Amino acid sequence: MENLIAGYKRFRARGWPDQRKTFESLAERGQQPRALIVACVDSRVDPAMIFDAAPGEILTIRNVANLVPPYGPDAAYHGTSSALELAVQVFEVPDIIVLGHGKCGGVQALLDGAPENACDFVAGWMSIAESARVEALHAPPEERQRCCEHEVIKVSIANLMSFPWIARRVEEGKLTLHGAWFGIHSGALMTLQADGSFEPVAGLDGLGGEAASG
Ligand SMILES: [Zn+2]
Repeated sequence: MENLIAGYKRFRARGWPDQRKTFESLAERGQQPRALIVACVDSRVDPAMIFDAAPGEILTIRNVANLVPPYGPDAAYHGTSSALELAVQVFEVPDIIVLGHGKCGGVQALLDGAPENACDFVAGWMSIAESARVEALHAPPEERQRCCEHEVIKVSIANLMSFPWIARRVEEGKLTLHGAWFGIHSGALMTLQADGSFEPVAGLDGLGGEAASG
């Protein structure tokens, strides 16, 4: 905790003066975020850092393995679905990006089983992506983790379309769904193409945009 307080003090000394006007404006006028990112809880994959987003620009949902559950309104507690409802129905974001990543522990748990001391929730949560696990079993063993990470992104996008107000806005051309994958080792960002493949973001010549490794 001391490290975090020290970080806060650095923010107040350096970041806050630069961004004070932005925060004041956001407080007075409210936020108009341009996109929702569904990302993993992983500490190495910070959407605001990856997309160089300023305060107020992006809404973010972070959970284990950037999963979207199927639409299922009932009496249970739905953290991800309630954030989706706010982003789409209230803020009317024009874009949702499901951001997966390399070396994802949630995906590893899906493939190899949840850690023994994390069995209350992780296994059940990851079962949302059971079809991704089955798909990944067709890949060679050394490619299985990456393949499953990609397939999990596709599962989340398919599940987004099970929400009636998301499907309606997509059909009306008011909302676009995207998939992306971030390589922690390489810093490469791959985006999901219409044919289901992932391609590196173009235009990174000279910026170290080498082929992605996890
Ligand atoms: Zn992850």
